[in-house]
Amino acid sequence: MRYRQFGKIGHNVSALGFGAMNLPRVPFEQAKEALNYALDQGINYIDTAAAYRNSEEIIGNSISHRRSEFFLATKTNQREYEAAKSEMLRSLERLQTDTIDLLQIHYVNDPEEYKKAMDEKNGAYRAALELREQGKIRYIGITGHRPDLLARWIQSGKFDQVLFHLSLVQPFALDELIPELIRRDMGRVAMKPLSGGFVQPVDKALRFPYSQDVHVIISGMVSVEEVRQNIAAIESEPDEREREELLALSGELGEHNCRRCNYCSCPLEIPIPDVMISSKVRDKFGLLPKGIEFYEKHREKIISCADYEPCREQPQCEPKCPYHLPMASVIREAAGFYRSEHFRAKEA
Ligand code: SF4
Ligand code: SF4
Repeated sequence: MRYRQFGKIGHNVSALGFGAMNLPRVPFEQAKEALNYALDQGINYIDTAAAYRNSEEIIGNSISHRRSEFFLATKTNQREYEAAKSEMLRSLERLQTDTIDLLQIHYVNDPEEYKKAMDEKNGAYRAALELREQGKIRYIGITGHRPDLLARWIQSGKFDQVLFHLSLVQPFALDELIPELIRRDMGRVAMKPLSGGFVQPVDKALRFPYSQDVHVIISGMVSVEEVRQNIAAIESEPDEREREELLALSGELGEHNCRRCNYCSCPLEIPIPDVMISSKVRDKFGLLPKGIEFYEKHREKIISCADYEPCREQPQCEPKCPYHLPMASVIREAAGFYRSEHFRAKEA
């Protein structure tokens, strides 16, 4: 396991971090075993959030007795002072700890949300500052899906760390955010290497962020086997040639340009960002089981996009996209996937 100094925060953090978002989906004993195995293998960064159902409780009940062995990061997606403060205090209780190493203001994707969270009197940031003064929080970070906005917001000097997407299908932080974080010597944590289960080949998906200048890659894990696979994928250091190959692949798979900012919405409830992000990888490598499940689940909606009368002349989703992306045509191409040889053969 590679360890690096976590920017000016200074901890020696493992390159692989345990993403605990999906632990509530599995039996408690399995989650406990996976967390303890990860610590045994030298993973020393645990990432959760108040919003991940009972993930914090699972961590508290599984590894709080080993608290000195890991750096603990959680998040609040409350924006107002009182609500954020009570959520942070609840996190301390659920995690069974006196101190949270890193509290991140969670999922801030637009300037209005940011303004609300940073309001001096009534913002979540004020609650984080207070708890930091009391020694209940050590560092404050921010997470979001808009690398361009995050790069702007860190100019305030108010954050120690940023958690951002970095994957073969979402390489955008490389241009917009990471150079600024390096310049400021801030904690750089990349998340979602598989972008929610769409990206393959899995080993390349993990090695892409590993080949970049980030401190920790958060990978969602739910079993000893997954911990083992994740560690195996980053066993060797990438050389310059592999780094270039992975960058070229990310250029191709990230052509869709969707940042997953979720500004768009669809009256038919088509999950537009997931379709945008998975389309290139689907065409080139096919889908992982989670991707197949996704397309099966949303199939009827995706197919009906082309016939949806109110979007005939002007797709309702497109004007909402800050990147002016052609979402309707990508959705309609995805619909074509069901009419492909592959699907016809499967259905026969
Ligand atoms: S064009 Fe398709 S995806 Fe966009 S809003 Fe209309 S139905 Fe939804
Ligand atoms: S399609 Fe555009 S608006 Fe929708 S999530 Fe992607 S970048 Fe954001």
